Amino acid sequence: MGKIILTGDRPTGKLHVGHYVGSLRERVRLQNTGDFDKIFIMIADAQALTDNAEHPEKVRENIIEVALDYLACGLDPEKSTIFIQSMISELTELTFYYMNLVTVSRAQRNPTVKTEIKMRNFEANIPVGFLTYPISQAADITAFKATTVPVGEDQKPMLEQCREIVHKFNSLYGETLVEPEILLPKNSACLRLPGIDGKAKMSKSLGNCIYLSDEPDVVKKKIMSMFTDPNHLRVEDPGETDNNPVFIYLDAFCRDEHFEEFLPEYKNLDELKAHYQRGGLGDVKVKKFLNNVLQSELEPIRNRRKDWEKRTSDVYEFLKQGTSVAKEVAAQTLYEVRDALKINYFDYLK
Ligand code: ATP
Ligand code: MG
Repeated sequence: MGKIILTGDRPTGKLHVGHYVGSLRERVRLQNTGDFDKIFIMIADAQALTDNAEHPEKVRENIIEVALDYLACGLDPEKSTIFIQSMISELTELTFYYMNLVTVSRAQRNPTVKTEIKMRNFEANIPVGFLTYPISQAADITAFKATTVPVGEDQKPMLEQCREIVHKFNSLYGETLVEPEILLPKNSACLRLPGIDGKAKMSKSLGNCIYLSDEPDVVKKKIMSMFTDPNHLRVEDPGETDNNPVFIYLDAFCRDEHFEEFLPEYKNLDELKAHYQRGGLGDVKVKKFLNNVLQSELEPIRNRRKDWEKRTSDVYEFLKQGTSVAKEVAAQTLYEVRDALKINYFDYLK
């Protein structure tokens, strides 16, 4: 059995630096190692509709934005199959069968879904589709027989739920589905990058993001307005680095070379942190350094995006081709699933 990746993003906005460190950067790296037999990258528009049913235009308009961000980061349609979820009806059919393998109380227990329900103020008005989106995610993963799912930490409960569905299906109907493994970023700062407001997670829906396509002056403004340690009032005060978003971003992005280039009086991040902790280092200096680091990381991405923006019809063509390849793979799995359920009725007439 080969090594297969499936992962993706909801087209609810442009992609941000949280997506980059949580999943995108790793995807591009894995794509270029050549270690995987197949890589499927899904633009999860059907999932995005589960909490945006009143605004399908928002989802539709963001498909191209996400695709442009992918290409800008270095995903290569020659090496990775990029496709649009809702164009593959096989995924919906798989979801429908998997729904029977999950209880309502299990669906309600998913901690990420619970947090998102609170965040979206759904209260008593939770759309059924939203509550069950982890089941549709299990369909997405298993349809491509994915062995590896590179994602951020918020996706852990989804992978757990998916593995439960695989076990239940295989034990009821015989070995059919492949059990996937989650692949989390090794750097703990990247598991769940906080927002610039210091909130737990940078998220398109919370509007606390630095977008990959933000212009340099916008990035700088956002960094200079970032939350830091609220008790670090004067330069000479000792400061905290652990729960300080500016230092978490440095953990996620900076390398020793950045010190050589932008802040040669320190060798590495440990030295900078030690100075901040003992006092005598101002927030502005740290933020200016973070700005230099981020600008150098984002500039090539922004430039590649601008080139692709001039060729959107080529981008749609890639999406169309990717979708057609993905549809064939999903159709084969659906056939196997129906076979395991023995509901390929007309085959038995042969
Ligand atoms: P939405 O608010 O619409 O849910 P989102 O910003 O959470 O959007 P998703 O499309 O749900 O983005 O997530 C896509 C991928 O990016 C997932 O693998 C998720 O784990 C990862 N991810 C999202 N936000 C972060 C973050 N702040 N830090 C690390 N990884 C993240
Ligand atoms: Mg999300």
